[in-house]
Amino acid sequence: MLGLVQDWPLLCHKVLDHAAVQHARRRIVSYADGQMYQTNYGLLRSRALRVAQRLARQGMRAGDRAATLASSTARHMEVWYGATGIGAIYHPVNPRLFPDQLTFIINHAEDRVMFADPQYARLLEKICGQLPTIEQYIFLTNPENMPGTSLRNAIDYESWLAEADGDFAWSSLDENTAAGLSYTSGTTGRPKGVLYSHRSTVLLSLTINARDMYGFSARDVVMMVVPMYHANGWSWPFTGPMAGASLVLPGTRLDGASLYELIETHQVTISGGVPTVWQGLLHHLDRTGLPLRYLKRLFIGGAPPSRALLEAFQDRHAVEIINAWGMTEMGPTGSTCSLTPETQDLEGEDRIALQQRQGRAPFLVEMKLVDDAGEQLPWDDVATGNLRVRGPCIARRYFGMEEMDVLDAEGFFDTGDVARIDANGFMRITDRTKDLIKSGGEWISSVDLEDATLMHPAVSEAAAVAVAHPAWGERPLLAIVLKQGQTLSQPEILSHLSQRMPKWWLPDAVVFVDELPHTATGKIQKSAVRDRFRNFLLAPESSRDHI
Ligand code: AMP
Repeated sequence: MLGLVQDWPLLCHKVLDHAAVQHARRRIVSYADGQMYQTNYGLLRSRALRVAQRLARQGMRAGDRAATLASSTARHMEVWYGATGIGAIYHPVNPRLFPDQLTFIINHAEDRVMFADPQYARLLEKICGQLPTIEQYIFLTNPENMPGTSLRNAIDYESWLAEADGDFAWSSLDENTAAGLSYTSGTTGRPKGVLYSHRSTVLLSLTINARDMYGFSARDVVMMVVPMYHANGWSWPFTGPMAGASLVLPGTRLDGASLYELIETHQVTISGGVPTVWQGLLHHLDRTGLPLRYLKRLFIGGAPPSRALLEAFQDRHAVEIINAWGMTEMGPTGSTCSLTPETQDLEGEDRIALQQRQGRAPFLVEMKLVDDAGEQLPWDDVATGNLRVRGPCIARRYFGMEEMDVLDAEGFFDTGDVARIDANGFMRITDRTKDLIKSGGEWISSVDLEDATLMHPAVSEAAAVAVAHPAWGERPLLAIVLKQGQTLSQPEILSHLSQRMPKWWLPDAVVFVDELPHTATGKIQKSAVRDRFRNFLLAPESSRDHI
């Protein structure tokens, strides 16, 4: 027997409809075109409806992909909602990727239109010849700030939008219709697409708004520092309107001084992003001695917050820091470290140690720890194993790679993170099995770094590993074994690599070693190399030779 409740599909545009009815005039400030714009949920909805109408008019159909190459702005949000409102799919592309990766991702997604910030016009011009599927480039700006460009059918967003009057209705869709596509780094530089549905997006946005997760309220001013092209913007473009929170969309103003000004001007109460950004804010506060008068909670995710960051914000600025863990495949949030009755009275060292944990899973996320043979491990805070997750908002396949099964027999997805979990369910990431380095929240492929190094004729073996860095969290270190009788200097190998990868991928340290440790099967034992050099960059230069 089925229940007798209304059949109401969980659709993204329902979130905006709700915000426009219940929170129509809530303030949204957005930085674009070098200025501040003010809007609200009522206006955002009517403009998103025009985006939907305009896209439909130019032949975008359900299932078609619309790429965005843009920072967090109100226009960017309008595009997400507009695309999903006709069953099309928004696809945020990370502008920090290098041209080869951008080309691969856009072609793999077969995006039909590209919405971009004007500052990316030159970048797109460089690669547009290799992007056959893009029919039109729409710059998220007004006619005055439209860049001069030869890109196909290029137009500014405001002129493009002016051709729609908003007399339009959202499409009726099945809640399992695809809504958003986010690519995440593969270990060999071939990114993989995670395809969210309307249902998974709405469910996740609901679940992460619980009090022990992000817990936004209509009385909060939420600043979306995490870019919308990182892991679905942590789903905040949906959670914010769902809660009716006031929004600050900072565009590209992410340096410490700008963040401070935004927080104080708009009385921001909650924000979130990768540790490196908050490090910038902290330096600004330290330099100027200015106080944070409004900020109450700061979510740090994408990489773990350092102890120094935790202590500085909490002790000196009375801002609660919450470690948030997740991944693109999870929509992305998988846990937050908020306190329970068992832990709320912890003080000093014990409290900091707890807060450095990635925390507990919310409803709709199940975790398990397994050993290398797939056997389940206990939650005793001693056993350390591979972290696997299961739930209705977690990927079960990658886009365009449907033949590849990524779940185990019980339907769990392997996160590539290594963790231990205590009896209260507090998880702690201790390592990572995926061969990647996360610098300032962006991935660097160690496999690609090694491949490029091995292309040098003097190199016999190479291992690229993540080492701790005070500002970037992790940076690459390259350990090299030279072929017999060969010589190679640090500048020589860096110059060789710089022709093959972007500057920010280049290793911060190159060490020449006589040999590298190997596993029984003859592979380089990366974990041992990582352990040996973990603190290399933190040590004074004079003592690094002895590491
Ligand atoms: P992404 O591919 O960008 O979604 O990155 C997800 C990965 O970032 C996770 O699998 C972790 O390795 C890492 N990560 C994310 N958040 C945290 C955190 N709070 N602490 C430690 N590692 C994290």
